Amino acid sequence: MSRRDELATNLAATQERIAAACEAAGRSREEITLVVVTKTYPASDVEILAELGVTDVGENRHPEAGDKAAEVQAPVRWHFLGGLQTNKAGAVARYADVVHSVDRVKLVNALSRGAVAAGRTLTCLVQVDFDSTDPGRAGVVPAGIDEIADAIAGAEGLELGGVMTVAPLGEDPAPHFAHLAELSAQLQRRHPSATIISAGMSGDFEAAVAAGATHLRIGRSVLGERPSTG
Ligand SMILES: *Cc1c(COP(=O)(O)O)cnc(C)c1O
Repeated sequence: MSRRDELATNLAATQERIAAACEAAGRSREEITLVVVTKTYPASDVEILAELGVTDVGENRHPEAGDKAAEVQAPVRWHFLGGLQTNKAGAVARYADVVHSVDRVKLVNALSRGAVAAGRTLTCLVQVDFDSTDPGRAGVVPAGIDEIADAIAGAEGLELGGVMTVAPLGEDPAPHFAHLAELSAQLQRRHPSATIISAGMSGDFEAAVAAGATHLRIGRSVLGERPSTG
């Protein structure tokens, strides 16, 4: 099978799963954006996916993400999903359209400076972490959301898009996704346009759709299993 046929088959199967999850949840497919996570896969895969109708792709590492964004000709939106060092924020601001992993005010300020310098507007999501047992994980605790959201909303070159989470490994994701949806509703009382709920990956996106996610970040289901370093 050619890579194009393989991606087309996987993408169609994934779209069917998304459609079924929407139907089960009584939601419209139009409420949901599929972000195909292309990390560790080449720019040529992004080109094929764009030809197959994919409009949004996700990457989690700089500079790999920037190199790929520079190489790809197709007009896709680039989502940055990974932990981001402050000193790399300016570079990421030059190519990312949406940054899902904003979890501290210092990073907000660095992204703002980078966006202004590049003459661009970045949509930023507050990454929320529900796993208090692992201090190494990215994201803020729920009580920290407002400070970061307010900083994004007030920063030049940035727009507050909403919230994002990665469900804790090995736990039922459903209660965490429900909690994120509650926190999103609270946030939207302060910031009505912050409607994005980024939740759900290959292994758990049905639960995310059921809980109200607007953006699914799906890699392996479309591209195949990554080598273990991914
Ligand atoms: C890799 C990654 C994904 C996609 O995960 P899959 O299991 O490949 O679907 C989603 N979100 C983040 C933050 C990631 O790093």
